[in-house]
Amino acid sequence: MTKRGSFRGELEAFIFRTITGLFGPLYRIGLELRILCIRQKIRNRGSIDISLSSQRTESSETKATNEFRVVIISDTHCHHRHAGTLPHGDLLIHCGDVLLRSHEDIGAGEALKDFNAWLGEQSHPHKIVIAGNHDHYLQEMGVSAVRRNLTNAIYLENELWTSPAGLTVYGTPYSVTNGGNSPNIAFQPQDEQAALDTVNSIPKCDILVTHGPPLGKGDDGTRGIFGCEHLERRVRSIVQPALHCYGHVHQSFGHAIEGRTTFVNASVMDILYAPTQPTVLFTLAKVDKCWVGK
Ligand SMILES: [Zn+2]
Ligand SMILES: [Zn+2]
Repeated sequence: MTKRGSFRGELEAFIFRTITGLFGPLYRIGLELRILCIRQKIRNRGSIDISLSSQRTESSETKATNEFRVVIISDTHCHHRHAGTLPHGDLLIHCGDVLLRSHEDIGAGEALKDFNAWLGEQSHPHKIVIAGNHDHYLQEMGVSAVRRNLTNAIYLENELWTSPAGLTVYGTPYSVTNGGNSPNIAFQPQDEQAALDTVNSIPKCDILVTHGPPLGKGDDGTRGIFGCEHLERRVRSIVQPALHCYGHVHQSFGHAIEGRTTFVNASVMDILYAPTQPTVLFTLAKVDKCWVGK
């Protein structure tokens, strides 16, 4: 997984803690100012292709008929419009944290409405969205109401979706708690048994979308390790997807490959909640009735 230099990471974490801890109400103003200052960097954030054959010589616009191109983003925290125009693909996946701080989000309804409108502007024939621990607003709405609001996406909450081509995608807003250190605990099981029940209901599928990472892959936060050991075990022993994507730990953006699974932390936001990290592309192909990373 990609990591920041340790000194810079520690310094940024210190600044982040200072801003959020001492100047709570000014937090958003600080974010907006930073976004303004680095707007050119945000505009140029682009995308990276992590497909196993991303070095192939054919044009990125051409593809074999049995290919399925996935565009992955996560943790846009109300700044989805800073994600710009996304690269085209067969499926767009958003791995949760659509909103920022739902308890304080007076404008959460408006933000969700705009997020849905923005999804409608994207060209992908299929779009999947899950929630994250910042999406209390969605948790309080309930699944049916979320679906009535997110008309331009397939909203998955511990459910499986199958594409017309037979590719299966399971989505869950699951992430582990931060030991009581964060007020953002939407969809986080509050005891070990509830966590196990959620993780153990994840079925075998081609693409797994969770909000939080499994232990040891894209889970290294400046304030601790946020990966789940139960999820790691379940993915390795039962689910075995071609692609497991998530976000949640902003500073652990990157990817890793283990066995037949490519793991992706696709957080758009960096540690300071500025949308500077690129969109991720990944290609699957159907080989002998089986979807594999290509
Ligand atoms: Zn986040
Ligand atoms: Zn999160």
